[in-house]
Amino acid sequence: MDDEREELGALVRQLRTHLEMRGRSGLLGVVAAGKPAPKRPAAAPLPPPPPVAAAPGAPPVVQPPAIDGLAAREPADPSRPTGAAGLAVVREELGDCQRCKLAPLRTKLVFGVGNPNADLLFVGEAPGADEDAQGEPFVGKAGQLLTKMIEAMGYRREDVYICNVLKCRPPGNRNPEPDEVASCEPFLKKQLAAIRPRMIVALGKFAVQCLLRDDSPISRLRGNFRTYEGIPLMPTFHPAYLLRDPSKKKLAWQDLKDVNAALARVGVTPPNPPAA
Ligand code: URA
Repeated sequence: MDDEREELGALVRQLRTHLEMRGRSGLLGVVAAGKPAPKRPAAAPLPPPPPVAAAPGAPPVVQPPAIDGLAAREPADPSRPTGAAGLAVVREELGDCQRCKLAPLRTKLVFGVGNPNADLLFVGEAPGADEDAQGEPFVGKAGQLLTKMIEAMGYRREDVYICNVLKCRPPGNRNPEPDEVASCEPFLKKQLAAIRPRMIVALGKFAVQCLLRDDSPISRLRGNFRTYEGIPLMPTFHPAYLLRDPSKKKLAWQDLKDVNAALARVGVTPPNPPAA
């Protein structure tokens, strides 16, 4: 028994000496018993990732184009309140508006609806008959399609903000006239300054042409990011037009997917993202 214990002790001593030697020579991560393990050197900062090279034979990797105004949410003007309080001030300023010839014709002024802190804001042209009666934008047939489009993007109506260039209905749904736009647009600008959305979707020829001061046809303007008041703006088809020509829904959906993708680049994602 004593012989066995002695033999075992010798073996342990030999093993320890062997391990210590290997530890000193750096061959093994084992150091002499009782000594603290050396600290790992502090990790050096990671170098920036190399540009992604396309695999041989694959098409070149296309970086997404820069979108003006996307990087930063417009800083708030400290002299004006923002969010719900800011919108309340704008609504108060608008009051029982009599600034243009549409005022005596309206049933209800249609200010806007939705989240006062929305990242995403939709601008239409002007209220129609249903909106004039209810005082809420996009509640008629075109509005129902707009709601579906918003939901397909992964938002609910109450997550986004919806308004129009004009707050009162032009008679017979005629096009807005320049003096009407001139009277109403300052309030749209103030609404935008209060909400500070990350992105505007401009719906239809008139909204797009009014906001961009660009007479190009909507078919050419749509699908290309622009800016309004420093905020990125995506022109797309008006839902009423999509009801008349459903074959254009595919293009409008592409525009909305591009909006979601652009917003995702700055960390803005819908609460219920659509399946890829
Ligand atoms: N069309 C618009 O442009 N706005 C509305 O609110 C409703 C229909």
